[in-house]
Amino acid sequence: MYRHYKQERESTQSIAAKYEFYAHIFNTEFNISFFTPKKDQCDLCESYKNALDEEKEALEDGYKDHQKQKELSRKEKAEDIKSCKEPNSSKIVAIYDLQAVMPVPIGESSAFFYKSKLNCYNFTVSDIKNTTTRCYFWHEGIGNRGAIEIGTCVFEFLKNIAECQPNCDVIFYSDNCCGQQKNRFILAMYHYAVSTLNINSVTLKFLVRGHTQNEGDNAHSLIEKAIKKAKKSGPIYVPSHALRNVSIHNFLSKEYLSATQFDTQLSLRDA
Ligand SMILES: [Zn+2]
Repeated sequence: MYRHYKQERESTQSIAAKYEFYAHIFNTEFNISFFTPKKDQCDLCESYKNALDEEKEALEDGYKDHQKQKELSRKEKAEDIKSCKEPNSSKIVAIYDLQAVMPVPIGESSAFFYKSKLNCYNFTVSDIKNTTTRCYFWHEGIGNRGAIEIGTCVFEFLKNIAECQPNCDVIFYSDNCCGQQKNRFILAMYHYAVSTLNINSVTLKFLVRGHTQNEGDNAHSLIEKAIKKAKKSGPIYVPSHALRNVSIHNFLSKEYLSATQFDTQLSLRDA
């Protein structure tokens, strides 16, 4: 901005103020500042919004199609949620998502910045019908964050649903991560679940890329706030300490996955 200002002053042969003075005026005399986006923005929508007029024409069709898809996906989810809440409905609508990685140890002191980190993962499944959120928590010493681990968590959720509400029709919503849930291993797990558990059907619906904000994000942001608060009163050293913050909210039922549960899933892949 200063460069533009300088160029403009020079073009009219006027004297330009020094950068320091310009910055001082800019920061103290005007009620303006740089905008920080609140949440992750969609690449496609942002590139269309930021495109020049002539570029916009080329992007127009793709953008319109994307907007239509977004609306349709929202409508579909709203309809599913409405119908699952009807009395005697056999439908269960659940949305699952992996939370951003939580590394330990973390603390306010800069010394933590240089420590080797152990990554902790938290996978949440939000059951919209029963308004419960289940957290599956593990660290990288137990498992990665691929199809095997995600599959194990979803299968555990299905096992629980089959016991509590037998003969239901489960509809899952998720984002489009191929390494985690949009792959053949997870499909095989659903097939296995439907043929061995007391579940009528499992339907998968994927949210539109860039617009995957969902009900599970509420749980994630609550957990992130709890971790932030806990960090202020002292460092978080070990995964169990991080887990305590994950399960701090009463509505979250925590489930700490053990290594053996991952082994069962591994054998499922080999079958
Ligand atoms: Zn978009």
